[in-house]
Amino acid sequence: MLIPYGRQWIDEDDIQAVVETLKSDYLTTGPKIAEFEKAIADYVGAEYAVGVSNGTAALHVACLAAGLQKGDEVITSPITFVASANCILYCGATPVFADIDPVTYNIDPADIRKKITNKTKAIIAVHFTGQPCAMNEIRQIAKEYNLLVIEDAAHALGADYNGKRIGSISDMTTFSFHPVKHITTGEGGMITTNNKELYERLILYRSHGITRDTSLLLSNDGPWYYEQQELGYNYRITDIQSALGLSQMKKLDFFIARRREIAEKYNEAFKDLDGIIIPGQKEGCNNSWHLYVIQVTEQDRKKVVEALHAKNIGVNVHYIPVYTQPYYRSHGYKDVICPNAEKVYQNFISLPMYAKLTNDEQDYVIKQVKELI
Ligand SMILES: *Cc1c(COP(=O)(O)O)cnc(C)c1O
Repeated sequence: MLIPYGRQWIDEDDIQAVVETLKSDYLTTGPKIAEFEKAIADYVGAEYAVGVSNGTAALHVACLAAGLQKGDEVITSPITFVASANCILYCGATPVFADIDPVTYNIDPADIRKKITNKTKAIIAVHFTGQPCAMNEIRQIAKEYNLLVIEDAAHALGADYNGKRIGSISDMTTFSFHPVKHITTGEGGMITTNNKELYERLILYRSHGITRDTSLLLSNDGPWYYEQQELGYNYRITDIQSALGLSQMKKLDFFIARRREIAEKYNEAFKDLDGIIIPGQKEGCNNSWHLYVIQVTEQDRKKVVEALHAKNIGVNVHYIPVYTQPYYRSHGYKDVICPNAEKVYQNFISLPMYAKLTNDEQDYVIKQVKELI
């Protein structure tokens, strides 16, 4: 049996929650959505949460709510999933890549400063693997240059920064509920914010730019009346997904505790080995461990990956520096270089990391990795 790098944990309660919603009056635009939004807002300590169809849609509506448009520049990390940068392009704005810190693999505030121009409008900070970025430094930069901060927390549900939950700190924070993430709704996403104006814009962009809120309407022809005030999308999450998400939330603390236990065991197993660099920790950052990424420094990384695949261990590599993707290379990013990102990419391997990984499976992974190093 293949041990994947990540996977969901669905139990009978989850299935029952979905079945009940299927039998209810609302499959979408019903009460489960607000319940799920409240559960996430409460958990992260944010005023508002807006559920959407996936984590990429969450990033897109966050960029729309931020008012990003052609001519604007947004600074983000190259060591992330392409969606963290694509959402900027969706708005006609320009992603600018700042290099990463070689210890945490998160965006380096010093390089953010170097990449700021008079066109810079926002920073998208990605909490790679679930380890919070240097948010104090990033917020300081944002304050100095009057920039908006969006956190891509697809990896970081349940992570803390200096005692504050990720999702409560910046202008907006986005989450994903893809099956490999901490909790799943199949596909799904959420944006949290403490800003009422941004919240209202997120709601608008999630659903066609249409409002029925009488306090926002420019005129009112009658009870059927609605207005399209912006060019929005259909990025709604369903009640079916929200019911699953709500049920998953009940297990989130357990899922994270288990992920932390797995990370500690990997750290112990590999910390004294020449040829492996374990993930670097920063003071005040409590990682929620979406991924467990090692660097293999003395072996050919590709050979190690192939050998582990041959042992039925589904290791993966996160991430290929975004600007090296053919689309980016052929759209103005031909000469972009982030040396730290390119160096670690050569060495990265993501080991199996998910709550349902058994002790026996993890022992097997550790043994196979040690044999190859
Ligand atoms: C998963 C992920 C996304 C996209 O989320 P989807 O729900 O798959 O659209 C965005 N950013 C990062 C860093 C991710 O890991």
